[in-house]
Amino acid sequence: MSVSLAESLAAAVDSGMPRARDELARLVALRSVANPAIEPTSECRAAAMLAATLFTEAGVDGVQAVETPDGSLAVVGRSAGPAGALRVVLYSHHDVVPAGDPADWATPPWELTERDGRWYARGSADCKGNLVATLLALRALREVAGGWPVELAVVCEGSEEQSSGGMEALARSRPELVACDAFVLADTGNVERGVPTLTTSLRGTGSVLVTVRTMAGPAHSGTYGGAAPDALQALLAALASLRDETGETTIDGLGHDAVWEGAPFDAARFREDAALLDGVEPLTGAAAIADRVWARPAATVIALDATPISQVTAAVHAEARAVVNLRVPAGADAKAAQDLLVAHLHAHTPYGAQVETKAVSLGQGFRARGDGPAYEAMRRAMRTAFGHDAVTTGQGGSIPLAVALTELVPEAEVLLLGVEEPASRIHGPNESVHPDELRRTALALALFLADLGGLV
Ligand SMILES: [Zn+2]
Repeated sequence: MSVSLAESLAAAVDSGMPRARDELARLVALRSVANPAIEPTSECRAAAMLAATLFTEAGVDGVQAVETPDGSLAVVGRSAGPAGALRVVLYSHHDVVPAGDPADWATPPWELTERDGRWYARGSADCKGNLVATLLALRALREVAGGWPVELAVVCEGSEEQSSGGMEALARSRPELVACDAFVLADTGNVERGVPTLTTSLRGTGSVLVTVRTMAGPAHSGTYGGAAPDALQALLAALASLRDETGETTIDGLGHDAVWEGAPFDAARFREDAALLDGVEPLTGAAAIADRVWARPAATVIALDATPISQVTAAVHAEARAVVNLRVPAGADAKAAQDLLVAHLHAHTPYGAQVETKAVSLGQGFRARGDGPAYEAMRRAMRTAFGHDAVTTGQGGSIPLAVALTELVPEAEVLLLGVEEPASRIHGPNESVHPDELRRTALALALFLADLGGLV
């Protein structure tokens, strides 16, 4: 990267910040929660229209809002690059999670407000901040280089926070929308402010509903208790066997000793983010938090059916049910892990009880290849933009679109990054973005496109 191009891009990004702030203010003023029970559908439509207008103003060709199977509007567009140029898709989403109770906010959630150098509003970071950083990058590069040296496509989803799969279904039915050599999924962020971060690992998931039956009906605990095979007790014994005394998930045949190789998960941050009560410790044993949340499986009982306390009677349970949610590290096959969970529940339920299991969800994990030319270009771009080497992190939850991309565009490199950082408090009250993070992310994106396009 020539010094002058990097400096010119930095200057163009700096001078574009006032406009970026204005665009962010317009975007966050729209209550684009893709759930008509919470905010009117017109807000999402308006956000899609505004995103389409902004992309068009930034110079993207053929921008349009496309309805996806869940009824949301995805904004897409694509500009042809020079002959033989690499193809890059820049992804963001224009929907947000609900604001919740405005009383929990120090300033109005739908009004971009500066406080202590940060910009507050719902969506200011997740993901309208990323959308604005993308726009800023595109304008800066166009201004400095006279155009984009790559074939440039944008995808801006309208229902990401609903997990309703609209964008994934659209991509599967129209794969040309996501055709690329590099897919930049700008919907994550940095492990701490100023430390450029690539999210390279997402866990897969597979839940199982387990039902345990021991008798034809409940038995009186006075008459039969002590010898009656308690279905709830049997279920609890099976569930207890899913973890050891340190909280490690110990499903027969499923490895649980992997070590996370990327940036650590700060223990104090974990304690604060997970809102642990005084005296309660994270479950780590001899492992690190990052091992437990990104590199190893985790089985969690997320629902349990037994007699509610309001209907208590002196009876031994004849039947009890639970849903066990299993998270599996990227690289492990989620279906195989789910099968092991099912076998474990059958093997560890005592009293000869009848055990019935049903798989209720399944999603594969994602692991970025991380060693291709796009990753190398992004690492160079981040180093220049942030003055700091990029680190890698994981995410315990899944991003189904990232997994779908590995099937739809298997040759493409998928890069997960963004303006978020711990202080952004995404999804909670008082969400915010730091303008420096927005500026540096935009510069990194512009440098990345320049680098991929050979403008060095
Ligand atoms: Zn998001």
